[in-house]
Amino acid sequence: MTDRTTRVAFLGLGAMGLPMAEHVLAAGFPLTVWNRTAAKADGLVAAGAARAATPREAAAGADVVLLCLPTQDEVRDVLTRDDGVLAGIAAGKIVVDTSTIDPTASQQLIALCAARGIPMIEAPLSGGTVGAKNGTLTMMIGGAATVLEGVRPVLESMAKNIFHVGGPGMGQTLKLCNQMIAGAQTIALAEAYAVLHAAGVDAKLATDVFAVSTANCVAIQQRVPVPGVLPNAPATNGWQPGFATEWMAKDLFLSQQFARSLDIPVAQNAANLQCFEQSIQAGYRKLDQSVFGKVLIDRIDEHKHHA
Ligand code: NDP
Repeated sequence: MTDRTTRVAFLGLGAMGLPMAEHVLAAGFPLTVWNRTAAKADGLVAAGAARAATPREAAAGADVVLLCLPTQDEVRDVLTRDDGVLAGIAAGKIVVDTSTIDPTASQQLIALCAARGIPMIEAPLSGGTVGAKNGTLTMMIGGAATVLEGVRPVLESMAKNIFHVGGPGMGQTLKLCNQMIAGAQTIALAEAYAVLHAAGVDAKLATDVFAVSTANCVAIQQRVPVPGVLPNAPATNGWQPGFATEWMAKDLFLSQQFARSLDIPVAQNAANLQCFEQSIQAGYRKLDQSVFGKVLIDRIDEHKHHA
């Protein structure tokens, strides 16, 4: 299963899944795709992928089934529904879940697949939509190393850095911890740039300074929440494309629950989650997570307007 004859099914063609599936096809793997909203597969079908009407149909002829869906609820549904993956997949064929989901739920789903004779690994992603487009994602693999080796060439068509981090749930745990750190950066930037805005310091100048100071981080390089400061930042591109606020809130909620199950207090994470929830209340659920900076800056401007 290590040559380009490995038949791949890709289910979930969203902001991440679509560019990932494009890389699988471009690498020469025979590809079948399924998406809830069928039209999103049109471009891939025009480029040579086969279209399946159901997850079962997609899985039926596949050696590897890749999933990229929002949460454990959708992953469980697409695997177990009547026309789902498990109804179609042959024994011994492999499921790879690239979604970010609850670690305990992921363990349960991997056990459920194992009981049906289906090896499954989790492969949550980092690198965002830009990493997905460029095929430079990081994958944090939880599950059997032997299963990873069976699918490595397929994963390498999408990812630059593939880490086997441990057994089932370990990949998801690492990903949630990554989100705790990434989310903290986003909220720290939002608050700092709101202060700069209110005090009248130029945001571009501040960013140049931060880039060579101790504030430097991935968010300073990629996600300054002021339009026009970074040409490729979501703020400069209508808060698109990016990592939706609703998915960051999901990830920090899962982090919160998981930390609580381990008796770890994560007070900053709880505060950060509340900030992302404020963005959702403001109507920005689908916009990039950095839009919380706009929420704060808009409030300052409103106060000025009413003063
Ligand atoms: P999107 O919202 O862009 O895409 C979600 C996908 O899931 C779509 O294909 C959607 O189908 C499908 N879907 C949603 N609900 C259902 C359902 N009930 N049944 C079947 N399919 C469903 O999300 P992303 O691609 O941004 O994120 C996907 C996963 O990757 C999430 O777990 C996210 O946390 C993670 N991730 C995202 C990153 C990013 O930068 N965007 C970075 C790293 C990880 P439809 O087209 O019909 O809506």
